[in-house]
Amino acid sequence: NKQILLDNRPQGEASVSNFKLVTTETPALKDGEVLVKHHYMSLDPYMRGRMNDAKSYAQPQELGKVMQGGTVGEVVESKSPKYKVGDKVVGMGGWQEYAVVDAEKGYLQKVDTTHVPISHYLGAVGMPGVTAWYGLNRIIAPKAGETVVVSAASGAVGSAFGALAKARGLRAVGIAGGKDKCDYAVKEIGFDACVDYKQHEDAASLSKALKDACPNGIDGYFENVGGMVMDAVMLRLNSFARIALCGMIAGYNGKPVPMSYPQLLLTNRVKLEGFIVSEHMDVWPEALKELGMLVGSGKFRPRESVAEGLEAAPEAFLGMLKGKNFGKQVVKLA
Ligand code: NDP
Repeated sequence: NKQILLDNRPQGEASVSNFKLVTTETPALKDGEVLVKHHYMSLDPYMRGRMNDAKSYAQPQELGKVMQGGTVGEVVESKSPKYKVGDKVVGMGGWQEYAVVDAEKGYLQKVDTTHVPISHYLGAVGMPGVTAWYGLNRIIAPKAGETVVVSAASGAVGSAFGALAKARGLRAVGIAGGKDKCDYAVKEIGFDACVDYKQHEDAASLSKALKDACPNGIDGYFENVGGMVMDAVMLRLNSFARIALCGMIAGYNGKPVPMSYPQLLLTNRVKLEGFIVSEHMDVWPEALKELGMLVGSGKFRPRESVAEGLEAAPEAFLGMLKGKNFGKQVVKLA
């Protein structure tokens, strides 16, 4: 069983030397356990935060242990009455080819791959999709006719946000890096417009482009990035706008992400709420049902960046933090 461990913690920017590839024997199963062969594993921005030994909402990733993370695959051996060989499952198997999971205590869930390709359970019909759903429905809570904006719009969370917002008939505007990502957001996801932030030097210039894309101002903002992009959106917020603060990837390598216009939160009476999707398990079934229907019916066709083989994971992970991914970043293992 090949595995990738966290070998040492990054100082500033993370690098491939923080990880270590090892090969181990898979232990024999005990009663109640299953052996899962991973087909895909998920690479997510939150993993960067867990590489630090800093106080956060989640425990830091332990040194010398397998990198944690979401996985999908197939049960290849079972000593649990709950699972049989051949069952397709989603779990938290981590950066390795196989995982031994205690079917009672560990996180494991059967998935139906008839209409939804298995890898999408790591993206649009998984944690990132639910994240978009929660921010849209529980924090932004849009009214008919409103305009909502999302940053990192072509990514796993951003594209799901766009698909959900369009299914509700809202005006949905994306912000993404590069023409290809913006074209995809509009043509494939259905965003009404998408602004390429890389074409703008500063927040004032980006906010002018947002004015054209959002002629009635911005009522809801789903924030994934922070910094200049957030400043530009803040300049276009309507009174009583809502911001779902989901991520601040511009600061994940340790640089501060200043906010230039906090006074606008007051003058526009804005509600800003941060959230962590794993603390809202009550919405998961409803959200996954809607996302599963959107993907299963072909209305939402999420894009993926697929890295091949476990060895490719560190490079793909570091690339994703810099926007080299185009859609949900996964690693194909089998
Ligand atoms: P994505 O698929 O969106 O990949 C990350 C994207 O971030 C990149 O493709 C890049 O897109 C963009 N990006 C990276 N650096 C910058 C930068 N400096 N400025 C602007 N954009 C940048 O990842 P996910 O969809 O998985 O995650 C999106 C966000 O949601 C992250 O911030 C993540 O931490 C957060 N998240 C939060 C959760 C929660 O519970 N609160 C749960 C899940 C995700 P581009 O090329 O367009 O710049």
